[in-house]
Amino acid sequence: MADFDLGSSFIPALHKPAALLPITKHHDSLLYLIEKTPVTIVIGQTGSGKTTQIPQFLEHAGWCAEGKLIGITQPRRVAATTVAIRVAEEYGCELGKEVGYSIRFEDVTSAATRIKFLTDGLLIREALVDPLLSRYSVIMVDEAHERSISTDILLGLLKKIRRRRPDLRIIISSATLQAEEFLNFFSEPSEDQESADDKAGQVGAIISLKGRTYPVDVLYLESPVEDYVEKVVSTVFEIHNTEPDGDILVFLTGREEIDTAVQTIAERSTSLRSGAQSLLPLPLYAGLTTEQQMYVFDSPPENTRKVILSTNIAEASVTIDGIVYVIDCGFVKLRAFDPRTGIESLTVTPVSKASAAQRAGRAGRTKPGKCFRLFTEDAYRSLPDMNPPEIQRSNLAPFILQLKALGIDNVVRFEYLTPPPAELMIKATELLYSLGALDEYAKLTRPLGMRMAELAVEPMMAKTLLSASSFDCINEVLTIAAMTSLGGTVWVQQDGGKKQIESARRKFAAEEGDHLTLLNVYQAFVTKGKKESRFCHENHLNFKALTRAVSIRGQLKRYLERFGISIDENLKAPHEGRADRVRRCLTTGYFAHAAKMQPDGSYRNVEGGTVLHAHPSSLMFNRKADWVIFHEVMETSNKTFIRDITKIEKSWLLEYSSGFYQTKPR
Ligand code: ADP
Ligand code: MG
Repeated sequence: MADFDLGSSFIPALHKPAALLPITKHHDSLLYLIEKTPVTIVIGQTGSGKTTQIPQFLEHAGWCAEGKLIGITQPRRVAATTVAIRVAEEYGCELGKEVGYSIRFEDVTSAATRIKFLTDGLLIREALVDPLLSRYSVIMVDEAHERSISTDILLGLLKKIRRRRPDLRIIISSATLQAEEFLNFFSEPSEDQESADDKAGQVGAIISLKGRTYPVDVLYLESPVEDYVEKVVSTVFEIHNTEPDGDILVFLTGREEIDTAVQTIAERSTSLRSGAQSLLPLPLYAGLTTEQQMYVFDSPPENTRKVILSTNIAEASVTIDGIVYVIDCGFVKLRAFDPRTGIESLTVTPVSKASAAQRAGRAGRTKPGKCFRLFTEDAYRSLPDMNPPEIQRSNLAPFILQLKALGIDNVVRFEYLTPPPAELMIKATELLYSLGALDEYAKLTRPLGMRMAELAVEPMMAKTLLSASSFDCINEVLTIAAMTSLGGTVWVQQDGGKKQIESARRKFAAEEGDHLTLLNVYQAFVTKGKKESRFCHENHLNFKALTRAVSIRGQLKRYLERFGISIDENLKAPHEGRADRVRRCLTTGYFAHAAKMQPDGSYRNVEGGTVLHAHPSSLMFNRKADWVIFHEVMETSNKTFIRDITKIEKSWLLEYSSGFYQTKPR
């Protein structure tokens, strides 16, 4: 391993009986604190048992009496599902009975549910119908150190709710030492607090779960590499050929990189010496099915070394046993919002020192481990200590809309753990105004604004859905909304590779762009394809994803019906002009995501500042257009891509954007 330079990072080690989790010996003191103080902050290394054990302790101690729920929030959907599966197993029940989970578009709970895992975003949404979250006796905000925007908003709401519900117990769990900040937040009196009701008793307490961790050798590269995916692959083989037993955990930034690395490792491992230990590469990222995600927890077959290639899900949210080696590519995909252009994207960013330490820590859980950082020690020194919380770099529109719908009119004075920058607030308010969700006094409009807040899609899609009736294309737009909510592609690469996807895709292609192509795919699946997997196999389509789209579509339809919008599936809208109506309708929601094609084939957004490229997966890749709208932006280290693109007419932008473009778009 000549090009790794030995660093030193030793974590003090305590002793722990192998079978016991660090949390076990804190059982009594934890329950005592929770009983006694409204807010309990639990600090403990990943793997100490916070997520899986605390809810069970509470349930056994009687916190679910009278049908109350224990809610545990996660910043990530993957964590909510995998952890619920594990806890249901430990508890000894079927998933969805006593232990269940709920994420957007997927509710696996029942009347019997007592322990409920859910995303923090979904709990905020529940507050719309149950403002005091009265079904819950305890709410545990897990992975609070991640400071996701939903976590931050939720903490602000809980601080408010607590005043009206002294019985509610709040647990904040964190893998790092930010405990004081959380405690201070809850201890400061709110501005709207009438009397100093907390003076009588303590608001909160901190409990720290000491657990044994083993030393981790941290190794750096001597010189930087260009292609960290390739370096990941070669490092996996170096470890495999020279290091003793133990599984490998690799941190990469996203699905594409992970799929490439998994494939390359699988291909190259065929040339391993016969009889030698084999390598089993496994992906872990959000777009996988729950079953695929669960593979990473299984023990590998005999004489096999497991290599898990993960996004930063594995940084703290899920615990995988048996990891001895960590490879850290040094990057992470983070949300970034540019208030000037109004474009939010996922951007590949260097990790923070705090993240790098968390990642390295994954190697030392069961015995001494090694962490290979695919960057130089100098590069490490220049990393920020922590990344700014998401609330300071996100599109706030969905959250402002929800706060308004919760009756919090003055969103500037809402109690934020860290207040968002004013320019982000202004930009979000402007957008919501142009979408018609807020009036000129920044008050929520009714019914439009209220309905937009209730719909489980982001504001631009919500507006599109709520405009669809007036364009006579509600059935079409429901389908498009469902298909764009899948959060991943509907195409699957089979043995034939990319070429075959291309030709399959051409069958469904609509000249107007991706949205109408997605509509064609869905319609073919439910009519010609009879919702069967065979059809998907023949057309290189992802059966699971399409089945999910059918379910999401049904849920969105029920929302609209609840608003009194009637939807007649059998009433065929006239085909004549259909594409035109759908495109106009999309413009009523997505005018802020408009771009104009340049002579060189790239796009510029209306402000003109950002160079955008059609993503290779888009139908509009290498095709001519004039003006387009797009669903989302994706950033790689050197290019900004737009995805799900549809051609529109420039004049529509002025017609449907209520003054968003004060001057004519050029
Ligand atoms: P924390 O929340 O403190 O990071 P967890 O409660 O997630 O810790 O994990 C505690 C222990 O439970 C882990 O060390 C691991 O052994 C086990 N565990 C957690 N999730 C799973 C899972 N999905 N499959 C198998 N074991 C798991
Ligand atoms: Mg946890």
